[in-house]
Amino acid sequence: MQKPLIVITGASSGIGEATARQFSALGYPLLLLARRVERLHALGLPQTICRQVDVTDAASMRAALAEAEAEFGPADAIINNAGVMLLSEVAKQDAAEWQSMLDVNVHGVLNGIHAVLGGMLARRHGTIINVSSIAGRKTFPNHAVYCGTKFAVHAISENLREEVSGHDVRVITIAPGAVETELLSHTTDEAVRSGYEEWKRNMGPVLRAEEVADAIRYAYQAPQHVCIREIVLAATRQP
Ligand code: NDP
Repeated sequence: MQKPLIVITGASSGIGEATARQFSALGYPLLLLARRVERLHALGLPQTICRQVDVTDAASMRAALAEAEAEFGPADAIINNAGVMLLSEVAKQDAAEWQSMLDVNVHGVLNGIHAVLGGMLARRHGTIINVSSIAGRKTFPNHAVYCGTKFAVHAISENLREEVSGHDVRVITIAPGAVETELLSHTTDEAVRSGYEEWKRNMGPVLRAEEVADAIRYAYQAPQHVCIREIVLAATRQP
């Protein structure tokens, strides 16, 4: 039987890429979104539509979804994974960096939710998976705005879950601790970036992107009447 369409944002690296590989290996058709579309194409996954979409652009996300649904049928899940982490002290940080995190991590997730939600409610079926962070559960030094965005993802997800549970739509939050990906590389505050690298080195191995993808796949593959509301996972050594 043909498996349903799964949408993954931020699939051009890290957790999104690992998740795309896993779902593709299971035979799911995919819509992969990111700005670096050449990295999406380079994955070379079958039954996959790759589109250059900035998640802050709701219209282009909707257009890509319509195109993929015309080919593969309705989206059964969206994994709102795209995110940016620009760490710094609030007093030192350029406000443009706050804006970028709020736009991508909060508005981007809302745009993804909004693109699929109407169809899922009408079909009374579907799964929304939002990738938050352990930084959406507790605070860390130099993380004020990033934590703000991830606490928002947790709050939006939980409230949305209450709204749509009666319509048989699942809402799942995945909250990883530190994962070895490109995420930290975008932090422009040199001292904070190298301090974080040192913290990771001293701690020992952090999570691999594949291990977070395992958690996403596990939550999705539970029977539709089971909603794994939240998974918090981190390296054993992470305090
Ligand atoms: P990466 O930097 O490897 O991946 C981030 C992805 O988001 C990229 O594919 C990037 O694609 C995409 N992205 C960023 N901005 C946009 C945008 N405006 N529009 C579309 N796509 C965008 O990091 P991770 O894999 O680690 O991050 C994935 C998620 O996991 C994020 O939400 C992050 O906050 C979360 N997370 C990560 C942790 C970690 O330690 N790594 C820990 C906890 C949570 P492109 O640049 O091509 O657009």
